[in-house]
Amino acid sequence: MELNSLITKEFRTTTGQKLALEKLNLQTVSDLLFHFPFRYGDPGQESQIASLSPKQKAVIYGEIKKIAARRSFRGHMPMAEAIISDGQNKIKAVWFNQPYIAKLFPEGSYVRLDGLIGQRNKAGQFTITNPKIEKVSQIPIVDSGLFKSTSEAESGNDPQLETYLYPIYPESKGVTSNWIYHTIKKIFVSGILDIIEDPIPSEILEKYNLPNLKTALIWIHTPQKNNDALAARKRFAFEEILYIQISKQKDRQQAEQLNSYEINYSKEKVAGFTAKFPFELTLSQKKAIDEILNDISTPKPMSRLLEGDVGSGKTAVAATAVFCTINSNPKDNKFGRLQVAYMVPTEILAKQHFENFIKFFENTGIEVGLITGSGCYKFPSKVKSTEATKISRTQLLNWIEKGQIPILVGTHSLIQKNVQFKNLALVIIDEQHRFGTKQRQAVSQKEGFAPHLLSMTATPIPRTLALTIYGDLDLTLIDQMPTGRKPIITEIVTPSGRPKIYQKIRQELEAGRQAYIICPRIDEPDPEKQFALDVKSVKAEAKKMREEIFPEFEIAEMHSKMKPAEKDAVIKKFETGKINILVSTSVVEVGVNIPNATNIIIEGAERFGLSQLHQLRGRVLRSNHQAYCYIFTNSKNEYTLERLNSLIKAKNGFELAEYDLKLRGAGELVGGKQWGVSDLGMEAIKNLKMVEAARNTAGDLIKQSPDLKEFPTIAKRIKMIEKIHFE
Ligand code: ADP
Ligand code: MG
Repeated sequence: MELNSLITKEFRTTTGQKLALEKLNLQTVSDLLFHFPFRYGDPGQESQIASLSPKQKAVIYGEIKKIAARRSFRGHMPMAEAIISDGQNKIKAVWFNQPYIAKLFPEGSYVRLDGLIGQRNKAGQFTITNPKIEKVSQIPIVDSGLFKSTSEAESGNDPQLETYLYPIYPESKGVTSNWIYHTIKKIFVSGILDIIEDPIPSEILEKYNLPNLKTALIWIHTPQKNNDALAARKRFAFEEILYIQISKQKDRQQAEQLNSYEINYSKEKVAGFTAKFPFELTLSQKKAIDEILNDISTPKPMSRLLEGDVGSGKTAVAATAVFCTINSNPKDNKFGRLQVAYMVPTEILAKQHFENFIKFFENTGIEVGLITGSGCYKFPSKVKSTEATKISRTQLLNWIEKGQIPILVGTHSLIQKNVQFKNLALVIIDEQHRFGTKQRQAVSQKEGFAPHLLSMTATPIPRTLALTIYGDLDLTLIDQMPTGRKPIITEIVTPSGRPKIYQKIRQELEAGRQAYIICPRIDEPDPEKQFALDVKSVKAEAKKMREEIFPEFEIAEMHSKMKPAEKDAVIKKFETGKINILVSTSVVEVGVNIPNATNIIIEGAERFGLSQLHQLRGRVLRSNHQAYCYIFTNSKNEYTLERLNSLIKAKNGFELAEYDLKLRGAGELVGGKQWGVSDLGMEAIKNLKMVEAARNTAGDLIKQSPDLKEFPTIAKRIKMIEKIHFE
């Protein structure tokens, strides 16, 4: 038997098992060895669900096996219904009036339920009604948490569990935990563990007191005691973070070998430029500008992430860097102007930033280009020096290639191969979390030479995660809002509160302000009929506002099914005040900046994630007028209301991330998978010490062997990870 032998060759399997293995993505012996249990049970004891009794208050951890929204038989009450398995037994859960739960917790999610157990149904299953539900990144392996200090972990041990633990794996019909367990034991017997190579050098394992690969594999699959399982999981979590760190630091090191333009600037000129903003920069903004200018004045390419809450004023910082870049005279003076590429995730935003740059560089003779999927523009037009003009893509690309247009704003059309710059010196990526790593790399490198890279994001994430996934970037925080900003007044509004809120908004509109109304859906009727009554749609809501609630005001709609030109026209009218109320889907979530719109209603708020609600709310924190955010919900669910309430309690995005972490567990908070971190890896993310250890170790290994030649097994693993991450 070898590590890459096929499971189906080595073991007799039925057709059902073959299918199940395929579904679990398990092909080789090695795949199976690295298919880890998500928790452990004690065969002497009944499963958690099996030991329940009626009318008991219980907390249950399990995996959602089936979930759907439907209507109750008798009433027409919408509801969600789910089957949850603890690996051995199943329980049915129902939520009345909360059909959206079926969307929030897809099949395969691990969840924690908290509620009252009902009677058994005909099938012998218990039911739990309206339990609190939250996602967990994994089902706790025997109650004590991972990565506690040894003494804590020991005191948390249940002596009964010390006797013998047996593993419960992510299963699929046909392949049970029992089958996996016994197959793995056979693999162990084959002696393969004696030839499997440990990628991590033994000094490092000793230093951090981690088991070697052979021991860790035995411990994770067949632990004799709780601590063995914990130690093994700790090793694999460390290993995962280590690989990500090495991969990032390798990128960083390679980037540092490349050359960049040295941007020269004078303090006076910078001051002259920033003085033109209609506001005083905050200290945080000034500090960020200093750090960035410092970086780009060296020949080493900058790789910096600018992280600041929505509305903290990242654009002004970026614009200052743009100003310095395009006004910098290259030493040998053989080039024209240096060029800047400014990439944003949506066409609306691209258009908005294009207009911003036109304003910033008015009357300076600087030309600005815009490239999106639906067309290209240039400022100024030949005919009218105060206006932009539509031009052909070929024409724009030609001017960019000749270096005549120094600033190009665009969506990801910006990184297509045919876009060639003459002297690309600075790349700015706005809302960078919306782009894949691959897209980010595409703009930022060419042979032997790299432009300076400034990434910007408003996604607040825990420091440990930032250290890991942004290991290749330097970090600048804008941790201060512009002065004079009044905190947004946020209110959770139940159905009976509507009329009062509409009245308040009317007063604001009469005072000259504007409002957004955000709806979860575009259209009625809902294709999934069960939602039809519950979820507001842009079209129906706009009609209702026009005809019943605000007939005296101008109301427009916006959603993703409209053509870019239509969206543009609406945004323009909203910007110039010709529209009072914009009824929209969450397409306005990212970056749209209309300072006079200071009211936002979010309909069906329970259907949005916390960070999305925070982004939406950020749309109205754009001026010094008092801003209001009304969170509309029909939900009576305690957990949902608690979640929405954290929007009121949290003072900023980072605090909100903390609440999210508490309420939903690490996996869900930042969508570990989105960053390419597994559930096991996310466990490590909760532990600053472990992340720092992995970061330092990665640094040491890279220093010792920059191309990883001395660590071939690690190099191989990293190749695999990079393949997964960059696709
Ligand atoms: P974000 O960081 O979300 O990209 P923006 O750069 O769009 O934020 O800025 C939000 C709003 O705040 C804009 O209208 C901008 O003109 C304004 N602004 C930026 N910096 C300041 C400041 N220091 N004082 C007052 N207003 C500011
Ligand atoms: Mg922005």
